[in-house]
Amino acid sequence: MPIITPVAKLLGIRVPIVQGGMQWVGLPQLVAAVSNAGGLGILTALTQPSPDALRLAIQETRRKTTKPFGVNITLLPTINPPDYEGYARAAVEEGVRIVETAGNNPGKLIQYLKSQGCTVIHKCTTIRHAKSSVRMGVDILSIDGFECAGHPGEDDVPGMILLARAAQELKIPFIASGGIADSRGFAAALALGAGGINMGTRFMATVESPIHQNIKETMVKSTEQDTIHIFRTLHNTARVFKNKVSKEVVAIERRPGGAKFEDIRELVSGARGRLVYENGDPDYGIWSCGLSVGLITDIPTCEELVSRMETETEAIIERLGQLRVEKAKL
Ligand code: NAD
Repeated sequence: MPIITPVAKLLGIRVPIVQGGMQWVGLPQLVAAVSNAGGLGILTALTQPSPDALRLAIQETRRKTTKPFGVNITLLPTINPPDYEGYARAAVEEGVRIVETAGNNPGKLIQYLKSQGCTVIHKCTTIRHAKSSVRMGVDILSIDGFECAGHPGEDDVPGMILLARAAQELKIPFIASGGIADSRGFAAALALGAGGINMGTRFMATVESPIHQNIKETMVKSTEQDTIHIFRTLHNTARVFKNKVSKEVVAIERRPGGAKFEDIRELVSGARGRLVYENGDPDYGIWSCGLSVGLITDIPTCEELVSRMETETEAIIERLGQLRVEKAKL
């Protein structure tokens, strides 16, 4: 029995599994593979060097899939300020109808996307931000628990609480993000009131993920102890893989008197982190990684992953239904 939720219907997808926006990873081959598998692939706008390059990436994705896919636009501190409006315009003009926004002060962007008829998924890490983006007109929220890769905000509320709070407070559909990599997490998210899930880290370790095989194998070998938070002292916290560079960043941040961004800029730059995915050296730079890395034990195709999660989640839901029957027999 398929898992049909309002989120799946709104997005026009078979299985309510959304691939999270991931810098350097959300490229056409992965996006198309997730969409072809029945989920929603998402291209990361800022991974493209310019809005025109994003246009080409959208066209390439469309050659690889006829299914719906989206574009992620993340508004966070950057070393070089991106042309957010240009990326949004490029996505809209190329016919993209689903956009995931994330980060700070998304109001203007959301207003533009809604005026162009887009379905907007907004990712946030607090109920306060979720409610304010509902007022801005977003269609779906992606509620991102503290377990997530990348930027979890500064409030440190894990998914178990944050999702239950979302269910209490929100009047629009939401998906669960952060800490989910298998069918147990999928079923738990549905139980907590989510209409689907978002997975980033899990999709990094798939056959179609455009990162070096050695990084995928490193992820399989890693545990839930292998992530660390950088930028805590700069109020731009990011959960990344625990390696030589991220430990050095944290050590600099802990020095008496703290650190300024300039003190760590070379270590943390995205341009350096990107090379990790190209040269396969997990210690070369900073790369985002969620706690769910501890749940990853293989490198399946996206099709294998999505259909396995769908089948297993259906089985869990059925098993939970049986519990009620068992109780009734007592
Ligand atoms: P970048 O090279 O511009 O910056 C590297 C890191 O430093 C990022 O985490 C960034 O937030 C942080 N940073 C930059 N300037 C800062 C400052 N003044 N104070 C505190 N922190 C600062 O980043 P990039 O790798 O080119 O990525 C571009 C943007 O996309 C960044 O904002 C990044 O956080 C964000 N991002 C998005 C996703 C996504 O899924 N869409 C994933 C990872 C990162």
